[in-house]
Amino acid sequence: MTSRSRLAPRDDVALMDGYHSPQVDVKVRLNTNEAPTPPPPSFTERLAEEVKRIEWHRYPDRAAGALRAAIASLHGVRADQVFVANGSNEVLQTLCLTYGGAGRHVAVFEPTYALHSHIARITGTGVAVGERNDDFTLDMDEVRRVLSDVSPAITFLCSPNNPTGLVETESTVRAVVDLAPGLVVVDEAYGQFAPWSALALVDDERALVVTRTYSKTWSMAAARLGYLVGPSWLVAELEKVVLPYHLDTFKQVAGVVALDYRAEMDARVASLVEERGRLTARLGELPLDVWPSGANFVLIRSRLVDGNVLWQQLLDRSVLVRNCASWPRLDGCLRITVGTPEEDDALLAALEEVLA
Ligand SMILES: *Cc1c(COP(=O)(O)O)cnc(C)c1O
Repeated sequence: MTSRSRLAPRDDVALMDGYHSPQVDVKVRLNTNEAPTPPPPSFTERLAEEVKRIEWHRYPDRAAGALRAAIASLHGVRADQVFVANGSNEVLQTLCLTYGGAGRHVAVFEPTYALHSHIARITGTGVAVGERNDDFTLDMDEVRRVLSDVSPAITFLCSPNNPTGLVETESTVRAVVDLAPGLVVVDEAYGQFAPWSALALVDDERALVVTRTYSKTWSMAAARLGYLVGPSWLVAELEKVVLPYHLDTFKQVAGVVALDYRAEMDARVASLVEERGRLTARLGELPLDVWPSGANFVLIRSRLVDGNVLWQQLLDRSVLVRNCASWPRLDGCLRITVGTPEEDDALLAALEEVLA
């Protein structure tokens, strides 16, 4: 390799770490909070029919009209309040490109979803980090301090929060919206599992957006589809920034068809919530700290075994969970996705063996 082939990237990119989440071939995969089962067979059959009608030689509908209308009707809002993209991560990136950038800041309150700060940095936006209380709730004095320090263009919340599982209360979200000088983003990737949603607070008079994804509850992580609901004036700005024809026709069709299976999705959410209760109770019988979760995952910490060691011992038994043990503020923690009862039993058996 000649030295010329080794071009230096942007200075800030050179200093960055990439996104790390090992994809390992194991029997029991409980590391990325996907749905444990595929969509209903009738969904796949109907989608196959719809795919036959796609005009493959034509660019997609740039406005994704049918999909936005379907999402709008799901949430009882107008289609011009909906922005769709390739996963909610692309929604977050478009928000940072539009409202962040050089000389601007986002605010995050750790521990929270690592990609909020990562995506902000990629877009050249400064990141102001606030600390949460020891029980992972928001400290409103700290929120005030960070917001007045940097006057962030975007303040990120995540409810239920990944990786802690904590659901922000409505009064907390309202208080942050009242304090924030710029946009407030409530990332509700796991919103369907929680007892309330900030979607009810969205209107054209409030600088608040709620992001959602098809990756988790809709059993469609393979499709990469996400969206936000927010003020129509904000959606219009995002449309200027996102690449033309960014959302392919196949994905638009899949997103519309999926919403016809809402009852099935609700039933899956209900059974996952029940399974979360069972898993949490069983974990509570082991020598573990277990945090209450409003999502489809549970954060734990062993009182006996080092977190990295425990993670490896589970992997040795073909059970993959998310290793947060070395993440700041999450010393020794592992995050476990709620799986099928069989998968969760395999995890519990492995944990019992290791911790015995
Ligand atoms: C999984 C996850 C996402 C990613 O969603 P995609 O739609 O798959 O990009 C966004 N936010 C949080 C908090 C998540 O955990």
